[in-house]
Amino acid sequence: MTHHRVVVIGGGNAGLSVAGRLHRLGVEDVVVIEPREQHRFQPLFSHVAGGRARLSTTVRPQAAAMPRGVGWIRDAAAGIEPEHDAVVLASGGRVGYDHLVVCPGIQLDWDRIPGLAAAIRTPAVASHYEYELVAKASRLLRDLRRGTVVFTQPPGPAKCAGAAQKPMYLACDYWRATGVLGDIRVVMVVPDPTVFGIPEIDRELDRKIAEYGIELRTGSEVQSVDGERRTIEIGSTHGGPSETIRFDVLNAVPPQSAPDWLKDTSLPAPGDDGGFVEVDPETLRHVRYPNVWSLGDAAATRNSKSGGALRKQTKVLAENLAAVLEGWEPTRRYNGYSVCPFTVSRSTVVFAEFDDRYRLTPTIPFWRTLSRERRLSWLFDRHILPWVYWHMILKGRA
Ligand SMILES: Cc1cc2nc3c(=O)[nH]c(=O)nc-3n(C[C@H](O)[C@H](O)[C@H](O)COP(=O)(O)OP(=O)(O)OC[C@H]3O[C@@H](n4cnc5c(N)ncnc54)[C@H](O)[C@@H]3O)c2cc1C
Repeated sequence: MTHHRVVVIGGGNAGLSVAGRLHRLGVEDVVVIEPREQHRFQPLFSHVAGGRARLSTTVRPQAAAMPRGVGWIRDAAAGIEPEHDAVVLASGGRVGYDHLVVCPGIQLDWDRIPGLAAAIRTPAVASHYEYELVAKASRLLRDLRRGTVVFTQPPGPAKCAGAAQKPMYLACDYWRATGVLGDIRVVMVVPDPTVFGIPEIDRELDRKIAEYGIELRTGSEVQSVDGERRTIEIGSTHGGPSETIRFDVLNAVPPQSAPDWLKDTSLPAPGDDGGFVEVDPETLRHVRYPNVWSLGDAAATRNSKSGGALRKQTKVLAENLAAVLEGWEPTRRYNGYSVCPFTVSRSTVVFAEFDDRYRLTPTIPFWRTLSRERRLSWLFDRHILPWVYWHMILKGRA
């Protein structure tokens, strides 16, 4: 069994950013366990599906994405033994740690909706939430000229939940420009009583929804999908009668939860079906195992899960962990900040910044109207942020 001072499970947005920050704070012997050879920048998946980016721009070799001075174990974690300070690897090995950071992301639960897992293998169903299906989603939306298209957003925890809507606005703008929008019925299924949940953002999105003639089904969820017959059954999240819609294209975002292997460890709170790691939502330290930490999509924090949330979480966790290694108490606090940039056209974005109580929390406090539809936010989201991600965020510098 090898042993390291800090072991990080997952080399995604959270894992690399926090490992890079720890190294920059002078913490030696940080290793990341990550099975994939390619690192994926998921926020660009929406742009790919909407025809505004190439799939190749979303990935880079993991070796190039790794921050300098951080080790890489090319394997997957299969279990955690917090009583023995050890991670069990899929290959059968074990890795010991002084401190453990758990961030293997969130799992897409295709099987939780009857028929959906089979439907995504049929020609008219895709999802921009799965790397392997993003190009298919892009092609289906680009080639549609008439008929019915359904977009779905699941209830419960999800990564950047509002991202389920982004390809829809991009596609509507494209269909309008090519003169076919009037021949396409667009249906969007969302779980909440309004399209997002913050009045200022809802107003902006509702305006675009009216502009594009989208049929919004609020308080609704998918109950089943038949990929062969091209039908989807939608019902209220509170029960009651359901509605069946025949579609020509379906872009489905499935329900989500913590990875199954993580649910089977003792890290989630007892009784938490989602299986997320039970941390103090402010210090990001485990409530029962003081040398275990978690952040990102796999952590049971209260915020809306997003890469934007990680910009704050990585700093808090790295500084708290470094302090504990020096014998101090963790004093940094995460305030629940999160982000959802809605691509409401092919050149504008509604940039929602909010906290864990869904209150607007603009980074530039005196510019509250930054959350209105803007071209500047598009430039930031599509062009500046990807550069900042690859060169600064993943290196623990932003
Ligand atoms: C379509 C889409 C659009 C999005 N848009 C935005 C946006 O506009 N803005 C925004 O802020 N956020 C957005 N997000 C959310 C954002 O991408 C995630 O919140 C963020 O990537 C979470 O980081 P993470 O490190 O927790 O998980 P991930 O980045 O998913 O990384 C998890 C890593 O863990 C690895 N892993 C998995 N299992 C194991 C294992 N057993 N052992 C070891 N490693 C493992 C994976 O290979 C992966 O590299 C979007 C997400 C999607 C899917």
